Amino acid sequence: MVSEAGVERSGSCHCGAVRFTVRVEEPLRGARCDCSICSIKGAVTVGTPLEGLRIVEGEDRLSCYQFNTKVAKHYFCSNCGTYTFHQRRSDPDTYGVNVACLGLNPYHDFPNVAVVDGRHHVRDTGKARLAGRLKFEPSED
Ligand SMILES: [Zn+2]
Repeated sequence: MVSEAGVERSGSCHCGAVRFTVRVEEPLRGARCDCSICSIKGAVTVGTPLEGLRIVEGEDRLSCYQFNTKVAKHYFCSNCGTYTFHQRRSDPDTYGVNVACLGLNPYHDFPNVAVVDGRHHVRDTGKARLAGRLKFEPSED
């Protein structure tokens, strides 16, 4: 389903208790982040406005983890532990969504994915940066 607002994709956690749909712009602009929690999760994420995500099933199975400034909300399935999506601290009007929950392969589908410098967070420094020398993919602007 393609519209001006993007493409709707279905997502779920590993065990299937949590199911959601998400509207994303294509081509997908994935990113990794090297902040303390994203480094542990290791996920590639794509962004969507808050209203672009709808939980279809299992909202009561989602747990929320917060730390530090407690602005970001990191959701995960309380049964299988899958990180599904998080409300971003960098842009609280959006979610970052785990591409692997959307049936995508984070390794093969995002081979040259950019790594955001989350260790020097844009909300702390006022400047969005990439980590290391990695560049955004050509589709990134
Ligand atoms: Zn699950």
